[in-house]
Amino acid sequence: MPELPEVETVRRELAPWLTGRRILRARRADAPPGPKYAHLERADGQRIEAVTRRGKFLVLPLSGGDELIIHLGMTGVVSPTPPADHVRVTLTLDGPAPEVVYFRDPRRFGRFLVALEGDRSALPTLAAIGPEPLAPEFTAAQLAAGLHGRAGVKATLLGQRAVAGLGNIYVDEALWRARIHPETAAADVSRGKIATLRDAIVDILTAAVEARGTTLSDYRTVGGEEGEYVGRLDAYGRDGQPCRRCGTTLVRRVVAQRGTHFCPRCQRRRA
Ligand SMILES: [Zn+2]
Repeated sequence: MPELPEVETVRRELAPWLTGRRILRARRADAPPGPKYAHLERADGQRIEAVTRRGKFLVLPLSGGDELIIHLGMTGVVSPTPPADHVRVTLTLDGPAPEVVYFRDPRRFGRFLVALEGDRSALPTLAAIGPEPLAPEFTAAQLAAGLHGRAGVKATLLGQRAVAGLGNIYVDEALWRARIHPETAAADVSRGKIATLRDAIVDILTAAVEARGTTLSDYRTVGGEEGEYVGRLDAYGRDGQPCRRCGTTLVRRVVAQRGTHFCPRCQRRRA
C-alpha cells in the first residue's frame, strides 16, 4: 500500500505536469457513484493551483476554492497512459492538446474526489492527521505528544494521529532501526527511544523518497516505474532472514492486524 514516500514521489511527478493546468472535465469512469468520487463535476473549469501532500493524501487546491483530493488506497495509480482496465476517474486537461489523467484502482480502496471549499468533513482521516515527519519542525517532543495510551506503538503509528504518512512497511522499518518492540505500549516508549525513533522515521522516509518509494506489487510512479527502496528494507518482508545488525533470524507476527516483521533480539519487549 502506498505510504508517504510513494505518495510524495507521485506528487513530485504530478506537480510540474499539473500545476497551472485548467480542468476541462473530471468524470467518474468504471466505478459506482459514491463518496469516494464525490463532487467531481465541480472541478470542471477550475485551474489546479498546486500539487501538495498531507500524509498519504494528495491535495490539489483549485482556483475556485475547492480541493481535488486523491488517496491511492492499496492499488491506485495516476498515469497519463490509458490503462487497459479498472479506470475509476478521468481528468481531461485544457491545453494546446488536451491531455487526460487516468486513475486506475483495481481494489477500489482509493479515493479521487473534490472537497468543497473549506469542507473536509467527508475525509475525517485527513482532518485529524498528525504532524508531517519531513517538515523541519517535526521534533521528538512532537512525536512524544502523540505516543500515549496503552495501545501498542505499532498500532499507534499506523493510526496517523501521532505522525502522518506511515504505513505497515515504514513502521516496521522505523521500529527495527530504533530497536523498539512493535507491541510496546505507546506510553512506555522512553524519551530516549522516542528521540531515536524520530530520527529513524526522518532518515528512512528521506532515503525512501530519494529511491522513489517501495514497489511490492501494484505501486508505480507516474512514469510507470517501480520504487527502488525495496532492496534496502531491513525488516519488512525479511522474516526468516538474518538481522543485518545481530544476525538473529527475523520473525513475522500479526500485530495490530498487520503482518509485522522484527528482530526478537534487537527489539526486546520491555519488562
Ligand atoms: Zn537484531
